[in-house]
Amino acid sequence: MFRVAALALAVLLAPAASAQTNDKFVVASLTDGVWMKGDLHVHSRHSKDSTNHSEARIIADAERAGFDFLLISDHDNHVNGDTAHHTWSDPEFHSDKLLLLYGAEWTTVRGHAVILSAKPYDHQKLFDIRDARDVAVQKVKDGLGVHLSANHPTNKDHFGYSYDMVDSLEVWNTVRWAPNKTNLMVWDDMLSSGRKIGARGGSDSHHGTVPGSTAPQALEATANNIGTPTTWVFAPARTREAVIAAIGRGRASISANPYAPRVELTADVNGDGKADMMMGDNAKAPAGPVRFTVRLSGKREAGTYRVRVIKNAGELATLDIGADGTLGFTDTPEAKGRSYYRVEVEGPQTPYPGVDNFQKVAGPMVAISNPIFFNFDPNF
Ligand SMILES: [Zn+2]
Ligand SMILES: [Zn+2]
Repeated sequence: MFRVAALALAVLLAPAASAQTNDKFVVASLTDGVWMKGDLHVHSRHSKDSTNHSEARIIADAERAGFDFLLISDHDNHVNGDTAHHTWSDPEFHSDKLLLLYGAEWTTVRGHAVILSAKPYDHQKLFDIRDARDVAVQKVKDGLGVHLSANHPTNKDHFGYSYDMVDSLEVWNTVRWAPNKTNLMVWDDMLSSGRKIGARGGSDSHHGTVPGSTAPQALEATANNIGTPTTWVFAPARTREAVIAAIGRGRASISANPYAPRVELTADVNGDGKADMMMGDNAKAPAGPVRFTVRLSGKREAGTYRVRVIKNAGELATLDIGADGTLGFTDTPEAKGRSYYRVEVEGPQTPYPGVDNFQKVAGPMVAISNPIFFNFDPNF
C-alpha cells in the first residue's frame, strides 16, 4: 500500500521524460542525445555586402573550429528571393563534416529573420509575401513547414513583425555584446507573456580575414567571425531536423565563441539529487522547492565566472561558479502561475585562435542558457 502511494507521489513530482520528442511543452530525455554546435547566421558572397567570403572558405573555417551545423544565411533581397539558385546551388555548398541547413536571411523593410529548414523549400514564396499582413505570412510559412527565427530584434533592422509567427529569437547577434541587452528584454517580454520561444545566437559574419589587410572588412573579420557567438543544441540525433527542433524547443545555449565554455542548466524537482529537467523543458510546477544546477563544460579560463539567475524577467540571484565548474541554487516556482528560470554567465573570455581580436571586442558575456519552464500552456 505504502509502495503504491510512494510510486504515485514519484509520478506526480517527476516530469515524465519522453525519449525523443519535438513537443515543446514536455520534458525530453536528459541522456538520449548529443551536444552539437554551430552558427546560424553567416553571409557568403551571395550577399552583396559580404567580402572575401566564399562558401568554401566559410565551410572550411567552420570545419576547422569543430562545428557540427551551419546555416549560410544570405540576404534574400540581394537575389530577389531566388536563394535556391544562388546559395544552395553554389558548387561549394557541400560538407562531409557539417550539417548544412537550408535557409536564408529573410530581409524585409519590417525586419530580418533567418529561415531554417532541413531540406530545400520554396523560399521565393516567403520573399514574395514579405510585405503582406502577418496572418498571410504565417500561412505561407506554415505551408512551407520552415522555422522562422527573428534576427537582431532590437538592433539596426529591428524585427517589426508579430512574435506569434516566430519559432526562435536571435538574442545574441555578433561578437559585440552590448547592443544585445535590449534583445534579452524583448525575449523576457515574450517569455513572461507565456510565449515559449527558444533563444539562439548568430555571428552575422559577412567577411573573411585577409592577413595583412587593413580594410575595415578584413579588420572586422579578425573579431567577428564564424561562431561569435556559437549556438549549442542538445538533440536526440545528428540530423538537420533534430538540430532545428532543438532550437525551437530551447534545448540550447549560446557561448561567446566555439572554444568558450558551454553552459547547461538542469533542475532536480523531486529532491532525489538527480536532474529531471534541462533547459527548454516544461513541466507542471512541483509542490516544493526545485534544486537547479548550472554547469560550465569545456575549458575554463583563470578568473571568476559570475552567473546571473533570471526568474520571470527579474534577477533572482548573482552567484559565482565554483572550482568544479558548477553552482546550485534553490527556488520554488509559482504553484499556479507560470515560471521560467534562465542564466547568463559573465567572466573571462576564451581566445579564438585565428580570430585574434576577439577578446578585444567581445564584452563580458560568456554564455546564456535557455530557460527551464513551469506551467507553460501548450494551448497558449
Ligand atoms: Zn540582418
Ligand atoms: Zn545578417
